[in-house]
Amino acid sequence: MSVDSQAISLVRSSFKSVAAVEDGPERLARTFYSILFARSPETREFFPAAMDVQRDRLVGAIAHVVERLDESDAILEYLAQLGRDHRKYGVTDEHYTAVGNALIEALETFGGAEMWTDEVDSAWRNALAIISAAMMDAANAEDGPPAWSATVIECRPVIKGVAVVRLQLDQTMQYRAGQYVSVQVAARPRMWRYLSPATPYDGTGVLEFHVRQVTGGWVSPVMVNQTAVGDTWVVGSPIGALGIPENSKDLLMIASGTGVAPLRAQILELIRRGNTRKVQLFYSGQHPCDLYDLPHLWKLAEKHPWLTIIPVSEEDENPWWHTEPEPLPPIGMARRIVGKVGKVVTSFGDWAGYDIQVVGSESMVNSTKFRLRAVGIDVDTVRNDPTY
Ligand SMILES: Cc1cc2nc3c(=O)[nH]c(=O)nc-3n(C[C@H](O)[C@H](O)[C@H](O)COP(=O)(O)OP(=O)(O)OC[C@H]3O[C@@H](n4cnc5c(N)ncnc54)[C@H](O)[C@@H]3O)c2cc1C
Repeated sequence: MSVDSQAISLVRSSFKSVAAVEDGPERLARTFYSILFARSPETREFFPAAMDVQRDRLVGAIAHVVERLDESDAILEYLAQLGRDHRKYGVTDEHYTAVGNALIEALETFGGAEMWTDEVDSAWRNALAIISAAMMDAANAEDGPPAWSATVIECRPVIKGVAVVRLQLDQTMQYRAGQYVSVQVAARPRMWRYLSPATPYDGTGVLEFHVRQVTGGWVSPVMVNQTAVGDTWVVGSPIGALGIPENSKDLLMIASGTGVAPLRAQILELIRRGNTRKVQLFYSGQHPCDLYDLPHLWKLAEKHPWLTIIPVSEEDENPWWHTEPEPLPPIGMARRIVGKVGKVVTSFGDWAGYDIQVVGSESMVNSTKFRLRAVGIDVDTVRNDPTY
């Protein structure tokens, strides 16, 4: 990516100053969408009727790219993935231009003449030209389907509020174990949500997702409670930087809740490859029952001595509504530890030399990285997906 360092710092500082204003991110997103829909009304149909989540996403996505403008390879790969994924909307090159122009106008309106100098304007135009070129080039070079149609073949509740959903794609989709995809269900048109396949690509076109219901959420309660065998979902192209690293480092994996899915996919892929490197998975949840996949992971660890599973829960007791007894660890498996996962992980050592991946909510990822930093880990090398 050839945005020079001075332009990068102008883009970052102007975006930061907008984001720092009270309700700044939300107001910027509102301004952006009203300009976009006024200038290019046809773009309105890409978005859901309720725009609240979409507004958070827009600002999250800009912040993610702005923070990483100097990591050329990683950000170009991410933008290429996003470009391939955006084919599901049917976007054209003209739409990218319309979005770029609306964003510039929104930032300028919002920032005012004092912040929006000629230098800032030219830095943003330069960065946006490179960003949209990376997305368009990848989208135009891709000859796979813009989206996959998928039929639900199984929907199984595993604990209250969490379901395992298995789908058969209409054609196979190549993805790396650890990546995620955007998904749309018929009852919530245009409300795309990201889910991480919990199994690796195996050529059969079967995807398995672990879905947790977010209270008050638009889509996840429908996915968990109203999915039936035979339903059709739509799935976008794979995205994400998680996955088995090409180096030979041992792996430290830290998950909370359904965040175990992309790590479990990698463990299954490592088994398929005949792995021997050490893999330590800290699998955490609020309550003991949140560790719904533990019996399956224990079975894998019994067969593969390179795999260690350390269960962690913040509370020692299950909530009142969960009445099933907690499964006992098989001989040789670690017992569950009570505490915050970041604190537990760092109590095991400094993890120098490990490849580290963290998957969970924004607060879990941030607090775990904070703990890792305190034991001397360079957290820039710790991998996690965007959490918006
Ligand atoms: C890279 C990535 C991978 C993901 N993989 C999975 C997965 O494998 N399985 C899975 O179940 N989910 C996964 N998610 C989360 C999923 O995409 C949705 O965000 C989540 O299901 C909520 O969608 P919703 O429509 O129900 O809630 P929304 O309508 O989007 O949100 C409603 C409200 O809930 C808040 N909210 C949203 N998500 C959460 C949350 N997780 N915890 C607490 N509050 C929240 C929002 O801020 C908002 O205020 C992933 C997210 C990302 C970014």
